[in-house]
Amino acid sequence: MVEHLLAKEKVAGSIPVSRSPSYFAQRRRRQVVRHGSAKAAPAVRIRSSPPEETCYHRVSFFVRFFMREPRSYATQSIILKHADLGEADRIVTLLTPYRGKLHVVAKGARRPISKKAGHIDLLSHCQLHIASGRNMDLITQAEGIESFLHLRTELWHMTCGFYLSELVDRFLEEHTIHQDVYQLFLEALRSLDRDALTVCQQRAARQLDTNQEHGRTQLLLRSFEMNLLSYIGYEPVFRTCAHCATELQAVENGFTPALGGALCPNCSHLWAHPLSVNALKVLRILQRTAWASVPIFRLDARLHIEMELAMHGLLRYHLERDLKSWSFLEMLR
Ligand SMILES: [Zn+2]
Repeated sequence: MVEHLLAKEKVAGSIPVSRSPSYFAQRRRRQVVRHGSAKAAPAVRIRSSPPEETCYHRVSFFVRFFMREPRSYATQSIILKHADLGEADRIVTLLTPYRGKLHVVAKGARRPISKKAGHIDLLSHCQLHIASGRNMDLITQAEGIESFLHLRTELWHMTCGFYLSELVDRFLEEHTIHQDVYQLFLEALRSLDRDALTVCQQRAARQLDTNQEHGRTQLLLRSFEMNLLSYIGYEPVFRTCAHCATELQAVENGFTPALGGALCPNCSHLWAHPLSVNALKVLRILQRTAWASVPIFRLDARLHIEMELAMHGLLRYHLERDLKSWSFLEMLR
């Protein structure tokens, strides 16, 4: 009996010395589970977490739930183009700041009693509510922001506005966001509207100098063309030779649309046509200066035609076609 007790004491005494710390950790964990401690439950739950496939399905469900296309949305827009649809509807081409160019349907817009029609005139700046449709989205509500009334009273300025909208429509792809082009177009329409108002006031005061007023709007068109090409990745080259990259000097240089800009005299065998020093200077100023800061030049008609020839050559090269508005602008000028 004594031997048995001694053996038991020996075994009991030897345990704390020989067992490792991990043994006690495991033992404590077993005790906690056995006695139903409040902290034991989460540990068990973590070990029994759902398999990886289930987690993936849950994540994809939340992504689909929160990222799905809304059924309707509100957006500011500038109206680029109209086309008739059916008996009384219209397909309207919009330029929006955060959704790019869109084609949407305006139901009943050609009816005389339509409340939307006045707000979605060409070149209008408006706030639209649009419902997502299966094939095309629908305008459900329209509210005018700026209608550019002065621009609409002057044929020359209105034609310039239509030309800018045709340019934007031709160069931009649908659903491609170009906030910079949206702002550029909006500012250009505001400038045209201000210029049209100035013309009206000068005409009323019999102080109108039509040539100079047309000259200012022609410069605005060149500035718009230059910035539009830059924003969409076709920036014209007017600082260095487009072929050999040497810096252009203040002498007669050349211009070739296919090479993307001006060429030095050493590359004259590649010139499509010459480019005068004054034309190059003005084009450089327009390229590097915001329209509001461009000084008021008094340029002769020949210089305007030279710059227009260069810029239209570039646009024609990139679009591979002429624009409809060019002939009408030429006729008005
Ligand atoms: Zn060169």
